Amino acid sequence: MMDTLSLIKKLISVSSVSGFEDEFSEVVASLIDGFVDELEIDRVGNVVARVEGEGKERVLVDAHMDEVGLIVKAIDEKGFLRFTTLGGIDNRILLAQRVIVHTSKGKVKGVIAAMPPHFTSEKEREKMPSVDDLFIDIGASSKEEAYERGVSVSDPVSFEGGVEELIGGRICGCGFDDKLGCAVAIKALYELRNLKETPPSADIYFSFSVEEERGLRGVKPVAFRVNPTIAIPLDTTGAGDYPGVKPFISSVVLGKGPVIRAADRMFIAERSVKEFLIKVAEENGIPYQIGVVMGTTNAAAIQLAREGVATCPLCIPVRYAHSPVEVADLSDVENTIRLLIKALTTIS
Ligand SMILES: [Zn+2]
Repeated sequence: MMDTLSLIKKLISVSSVSGFEDEFSEVVASLIDGFVDELEIDRVGNVVARVEGEGKERVLVDAHMDEVGLIVKAIDEKGFLRFTTLGGIDNRILLAQRVIVHTSKGKVKGVIAAMPPHFTSEKEREKMPSVDDLFIDIGASSKEEAYERGVSVSDPVSFEGGVEELIGGRICGCGFDDKLGCAVAIKALYELRNLKETPPSADIYFSFSVEEERGLRGVKPVAFRVNPTIAIPLDTTGAGDYPGVKPFISSVVLGKGPVIRAADRMFIAERSVKEFLIKVAEENGIPYQIGVVMGTTNAAAIQLAREGVATCPLCIPVRYAHSPVEVADLSDVENTIRLLIKALTTIS
């Protein structure tokens, strides 16, 4: 079985800009095929799998496949690409990034241009860049040349980036939100298959959903169809343990274990699931943190599906979210896997 870091590297190597998850969903499906009792890619592109238990509960574990990125909006006469963002991105991180344009003829490399300091005044450099002022240089000299390479309006654009290992068991890369969640779900699913002799009492559904970053869209048909009684969505959450973060904006830190997400901008966890996760963590000596955090997750959409779903997410702490240099601690990923497996096999 692939170790967690190798799995993360494999997932990060395939881009999945929100709304353009096709290639990534094929990779996920191929990784879990043979380990589940049912597997399907639904009409909107979600990968949905079922691990059969005794059917006492229907538990949904969701991780979103999509990551923030860009989309080509126009190609100008000189072959420069204009774009807009897909998902929440701070424009300041866009300058001077290496990017990949995913065209019908394959990948085309490019850079988001940055004006040299020699060409700008001090005042101009203080200004927040507008996306309308930014452009991608793919090396083309004309619109025709860009077309010839397959570039066209509506092509998705991802940040270039693999996974780098930092010191202290920490890793850096783009798309940790939510490919770390996908990695946790895949590892848990493998583990459940190893327990085949003693199946969990719940039927467990795993969804790898599309378009979370565009308003929690993809998971809605999954929640409708699976009609779960309990949901444990997996996502990342912003750690606040670095210079410049205002006091109390986030009590989450790297390396202290998974975050049981009690509340966020759009969501309050169902109390019994939250307390169950805390109990499982404590009984098994797994470190955990309770999070009242910014942003939101697919939990907010799942919770209100049909007649309501008892929902509490597990999140992996991440620094510098929605940038190409997200930083996470591998021990948090491992402890999230441990907690999820224990929870899934304890639900009765
Ligand atoms: Zn996310």
